[in-house]
Amino acid sequence: MVHVGIGYDVHPLVEGRKLILGGVEIPHPKGLAGHSDADVLMHAICDALLGAMGLADIGHFFPNTDPRWRGVASRMFLEEAARQAVFQEGRIVNVDATLIAEQPKIIPYVDAMRTNVAKALGISFKRVGIKATTHEKLGFLGREEGIAAMAVASVDMPG
Ligand code: MG
Repeated sequence: MVHVGIGYDVHPLVEGRKLILGGVEIPHPKGLAGHSDADVLMHAICDALLGAMGLADIGHFFPNTDPRWRGVASRMFLEEAARQAVFQEGRIVNVDATLIAEQPKIIPYVDAMRTNVAKALGISFKRVGIKATTHEKLGFLGREEGIAAMAVASVDMPG
């Protein structure tokens, strides 16, 4: 039985932080603030996977009050979601995500992001979709105050 899950995340853009999206460091005057590396794309994908498996959200597995997760690469969170799939005798079918960012342009980095996500989840490149859109200059995303990501995931589960 294929189960689907949804994930959403947003982090503020601030000066003095690296911009890490899908495990790729992207040259940009600002980066995302957060307890970990604030990789909003990987966080949304992680929540989609956890949701597909009927598990609690990323904040439950990796509380932002726990110093162990301070500054860590969010790849670890995806690796944990993949481990949870193994525990449940599930098989990740695919993930698909959309980044919402006014700047920078994401397209040049999409294949590297897909490679990183696929590797962390132990699935093939073609099972990872990553797309990007702007927010047409509207609202906090349009004013470049933050970057958001939404994701869906499907996991083939025994029941
Ligand atoms: Mg997050």
